[in-house]
Amino acid sequence: MSNFLTSAFDSVRRSALDAARMALPQRCELCAGVSGTDLVCGGCMRDLPWLARACPVCALPSGGSVCGQCLSDPPPFDATIAAFSYAFPIDRLIHSLKYQGRLALAEWCADAILVQRGNSGAGSRPDRLIALPLAVARQRERGYNQALEIARVIGARSGVPLLPRGLSRVRATPPQAALPWAERAKNVRGAFACDLDLSGLTVALVDDVMTTGASLAEAAKILKASGAASVENWVVARTLPPAD
Ligand SMILES: [Zn+2]
Ligand SMILES: [Zn+2]
Repeated sequence: MSNFLTSAFDSVRRSALDAARMALPQRCELCAGVSGTDLVCGGCMRDLPWLARACPVCALPSGGSVCGQCLSDPPPFDATIAAFSYAFPIDRLIHSLKYQGRLALAEWCADAILVQRGNSGAGSRPDRLIALPLAVARQRERGYNQALEIARVIGARSGVPLLPRGLSRVRATPPQAALPWAERAKNVRGAFACDLDLSGLTVALVDDVMTTGASLAEAAKILKASGAASVENWVVARTLPPAD
C-alpha cells in the first residue's frame, strides 16, 4: 500500500475495530474456517480472482498496457483500478453486501481497492472521492448505497475527502443487468447530474462492479463537464466481456 494511504490510516478506529474482532473470533465469509480478525481467511484471499496485467484505462485484460480499444476510442474516464475480476466467489461477496445488508463487507472491499491501487504503481492520490449514486427509488428500497459505504471507508483510510452529495441520478433507468451489452450505453445517457465545482481536480469514482463501464463513462462525462481534470474509476470487480 502506498505511503499516503498508510500514513493517513485511522489507526485509532482500526485498533478499536480489531479489538472488537479479537473478542469475537471471525469465521471466514467464504469457507467458514477460523479467520482470526479477518473477514476472509488467508487461504481464501490467495485464491481470489485478483485482476492482474489489465489495461490501466478500462481494466480489461491487456497484458498491462493500454488496450487497443482505449487507444482508438478513449473513454471519458482516464484510469480504472479494479481489485478483482467479477467471478466466483467475489460475485457472492458483493451480492451479500448489496442485497443482504452485510455492510461489514464494504470495509473489506475498500481495503481490496486500496491494496490494488497501491500495487498499480498509479501516481499521486486523487483530490476527491465520489460514489456512483443509485437511483433514488433503489436507494430507498435498499436503505443504503453500497458504493457510498465503500467510498466512506476509503476516505477514512486514505484521507482523501469524500463528496457524499452532488452527483445524482436524475433519470431512473432500467437496471443495466436486464439489458444486452450493446444497449447499456444508450440506457444511461443523461442519467446523471452534478452540481459540484470540480475545477482542476482529479476525482476517484467509486463503485462495486464495473460491467460494460457505461454508467461510469456517463458519470465521468458529467464530472468532466463540472470541471474535473481527470476521473479514475475505483471498483471492487470488473466483469470480463463474454467471449465472442
Ligand atoms: Zn476461507
Ligand atoms: Zn482499455
